[in-house]
Amino acid sequence: MSTDKYGSSAQYKKQEASYRDQALKLFPWICGRCIREFVYSNLRELTVHHIDHDHNNNPKDGSNWELLCIYCHDHEHSKYLEHDRYGSEVKPQDDQHKNATFNPFADLKKLLDKD
Ligand SMILES: [Zn+2]
Ligand SMILES: [Zn+2]
Repeated sequence: MSTDKYGSSAQYKKQEASYRDQALKLFPWICGRCIREFVYSNLRELTVHHIDHDHNNNPKDGSNWELLCIYCHDHEHSKYLEHDRYGSEVKPQDDQHKNATFNPFADLKKLLDKD
């Protein structure tokens, strides 16, 4: 029979629906990053993120779940991918560049301007 493929994807869908339902019952409908609140009408924009990125790790107490809006969820995953991609290659120059955009004297100047 060739029902295996259909069967397993249906199984996956069912599993996904069940942990999503459970997570939505456990947690308030708020994005864990941007604190955006959700209601029934836009609830499909609220997603269940797996903290350890393992979709098969679904403890009943919700300890591996986090509710994130689709934007923050995207961001969370792109961050993870970047980390994966560059994780083995140390790029100190990139870090220096990032640090350079943060100006520690900006606050100092504010303080001096105050008087
Ligand atoms: Zn968000
Ligand atoms: Zn996720």
